[in-house]
Amino acid sequence: MNETPLRVRAEIDLAALRANVRALRARAPRAEFMAVVKADAYGHGMVPCARAALQAGATWLGTATPEEALALRAAGIGPDEARVLCWLWTPGGPWRQAVEAEVEVSVSGMWALREVVAAARQAGRTAKVQLKADTGLGRNGCRPDDWPELVEESLKAEAEGTLRITGLWSHYACADEPGHPSIAAQSTAFAQMVAYAEDAGLRPEVRHIANSPATLTLPDSHYDLVRPGIAMYGVSPSPEVGVPADFGLRPVMTLTASLALVKQVPAGHGVSYGHHYVTPGATTLGLVPAGYGDGLPRGASGRGPVLIGGKWRTAAGRIAMDQFVVDLGGDEPDVGDAAVLFGPGDRGEPTAEDWARAADTIGYEIVTRIGSRVPRVYV
Ligand code: PLP
Repeated sequence: MNETPLRVRAEIDLAALRANVRALRARAPRAEFMAVVKADAYGHGMVPCARAALQAGATWLGTATPEEALALRAAGIGPDEARVLCWLWTPGGPWRQAVEAEVEVSVSGMWALREVVAAARQAGRTAKVQLKADTGLGRNGCRPDDWPELVEESLKAEAEGTLRITGLWSHYACADEPGHPSIAAQSTAFAQMVAYAEDAGLRPEVRHIANSPATLTLPDSHYDLVRPGIAMYGVSPSPEVGVPADFGLRPVMTLTASLALVKQVPAGHGVSYGHHYVTPGATTLGLVPAGYGDGLPRGASGRGPVLIGGKWRTAAGRIAMDQFVVDLGGDEPDVGDAAVLFGPGDRGEPTAEDWARAADTIGYEIVTRIGSRVPRVYV
């Protein structure tokens, strides 16, 4: 009966996260480990996951926004415990707070370099800066044509004492598609941009480009530091890379709801908004009290899987904001019984990858979107 008194909960297995960090570190034994904990640790809870990763040997934490980085420091994770890098800045961002909190900042262009230099002067501190190269992702980062100017201006600021370039780094576009030609092209471009900066006189402590798929499949990309996110949470970067178990990784999040209603209906009964499912015969319907308001993808309507009483059922009709319905095919579980939406998969439950397939998206999005209305229970 009722083993899950909460409407819905995300159980976060921190021992699995620690084991995943160790498994990933074993693949990159000479590199430092930056645990990527942006977006609330991909939905798993930033501070508990950061602490668990540090316990397992991570020495760096990576975030997208400066606010996330500052929240790590505010939670008491000090500079002695972890170096922190954040990389997504907009003009007028909290550069000074970052410098004062000893958060390292990524700079992709001249406007950002100017802002961090100004903040460091105001604070009377030396900012720790990492220059990001766009080696082909075509997103954030400095293009090779603009790299000489960024390097030269960084050297001037170093000479003045306002900043120190602690890292040179980049990000792959297609590391999750092993063999994609852009991987070799980006690797070459990164080596060239690093060589240019070092020849010009920069002495970075860390050079890094490896996300999860590169950490798992491209040993030559490991440099001084690897920067995995999704693999640390035990979710595969892509089907082409493999399943988590191929790499000794275990999914960290298990999402479980308590059945809210079980009822008999006749044949021809329309189910949920739009009546996209109509019962083919007399049957039992079960109400799973979780919906897109909790972060489930509405795109998985009619397909999203759930384990109830040892059997997989799929969302019958539309997934609504707070709930969806499954056709239990005449089974009669009790109200309050567990409906496991996803988890490690070794107790027969679906995985986040199964939900990703059902919603035509990626596992990253499934776990990251699980919303703040869903309590995280750390085990
Ligand atoms: N580095 C950067 C700059 C990122 O944006 C991300 C995530 O998207 C990562 C590392 C981690 O990537 P992954 O989750 O694929 O390991």
